[in-house]
Amino acid sequence: MRFFNTLGRSMQEFTPIDKENVRMYTCGPTVYNYAHIGNFRAYLFEDILRRTLEYFGHKVTQVMNLTDVDDKTIRDSQAAKLKLQDFTRKYKDAFFEDLKELRIEPAEHYPEATTHIPEMIRMIEVLFEKGYAYKSEDGSVYFSIDKFKEYGKLARIDREQQRAGVRINSDEYEKDSVADFALWKAWSPSDGDVKWDSPWGIGRPGWHLECSAMSMKYLGKTFDLHTGGVDNMFPHHEDEIAQSEAANGCQFVNYWLHCEHLTIENKKMSKSLGNFYTLRDLLAKGYTGAEVRWALIGTHYRSKLNFSIALCDQARSTLKKFADFFQRLHDLEKGDKGKEQAAELAAAADQAFAKAMGNDLGIAEALAAVYNLERSVNSALAKNEFGSEAGGIILEQFRRFNKVLGSFDVDAPAVKEEVPAEIMEMAQQRTEARKARDFAKADELRNRLKDLGWIIEDVPGGGIKVKKA
Ligand code: AMP
Ligand code: ZN
Repeated sequence: MRFFNTLGRSMQEFTPIDKENVRMYTCGPTVYNYAHIGNFRAYLFEDILRRTLEYFGHKVTQVMNLTDVDDKTIRDSQAAKLKLQDFTRKYKDAFFEDLKELRIEPAEHYPEATTHIPEMIRMIEVLFEKGYAYKSEDGSVYFSIDKFKEYGKLARIDREQQRAGVRINSDEYEKDSVADFALWKAWSPSDGDVKWDSPWGIGRPGWHLECSAMSMKYLGKTFDLHTGGVDNMFPHHEDEIAQSEAANGCQFVNYWLHCEHLTIENKKMSKSLGNFYTLRDLLAKGYTGAEVRWALIGTHYRSKLNFSIALCDQARSTLKKFADFFQRLHDLEKGDKGKEQAAELAAAADQAFAKAMGNDLGIAEALAAVYNLERSVNSALAKNEFGSEAGGIILEQFRRFNKVLGSFDVDAPAVKEEVPAEIMEMAQQRTEARKARDFAKADELRNRLKDLGWIIEDVPGGGIKVKKA
């Protein structure tokens, strides 16, 4: 497998530290609201990455943090007049429901910032011991970017742009305010009862520190993969690298992968612009999690994806087409007809799919392999070349694709349409008429059925199927 590594901006062969256990950290949600589908694009990219690693036979240990204390959670819990943990609980629960709905495989660990304060304090102590941290007049502790010579290597910020010695206290800031960032923020009255004790007085950790401390706890000092949306690259990931490498004296992460934004009318979908849909908004419109999933995974993770409701409609019709296809395969007559042809088609498709996904998650080429297989199989079905065993081989191949794609319901029991007796009766009469070579009568019956809203499909190998038009 190979990936585009943001660190170095190049395509690199993926060599895990431990082949038996790929370790991966994904920055999780700040639980101050429902996640929007822009956030879920990032989590779905990470899910596809995880599932692809598994498809290639790796076991994966994934950690996703929950940011349950930061500037925004404090601000909004106060506005809601709730204790911080009561406020964030609601959005944590909603997040897990949404993950399930979108068929995102669970990570092995979901550590919360508020239950890892001692680990964060310990890391600041180490940074003091090694000379990277200093305390300011107001009691906050900062990381001195001047001391860490490699600061800026991920986001490619050269030293001239860096304002060492200038301090920035907010969790989020832009590239033009590169500065010493807060490791520990001294308590201020606006924090209310959100505070912890520390060797530097009461306060709370900075946002970036949480990921450095928790990734080390669960994945070790050096691990394989770290992911997030492109907006996480700076300052968040840059600051994580600085803290971790300064404290541990070794490389933090080998491969950094970042996904591009989900846009809406070509603007980044974000809470602050208010141009967002939550998953719940789309479910309320009648779309399923599988459909939203399909709509969001079909574009390569390093390209922007412009979202529209039409995309969900397309996903719906594609998934419906596949559901009908799976049903036809399940309905094939018993026998080994076409088994070898099916095995050959499946193997070729599997190879093309794996090659595409192994090449920096090349979803477009991977989906082309899926559609090609469907097309070839459909033409074999039209020529009545397949029996149930061939069907079984193809279905098995789709189960394999689905280990990565996750949107198909290969084995969902078909929703059988209730066909009224008199409609069935007319359809039978049409079959009789055709047998008797009375094609005028057969056509007339077919047209009458059509007017009543029913269509007749001839099943390869004889027999008919009556469906709603
Ligand atoms: P946040 O809760 O803001 O920390 O974001 C959680 C994750 O969603 C991060 O990995 C962000 O980079 C990502 N993210 C936020 N907005 C978007 C968007 N419009 N498109 C893709 N990813 C996003
Ligand atoms: Zn993070």
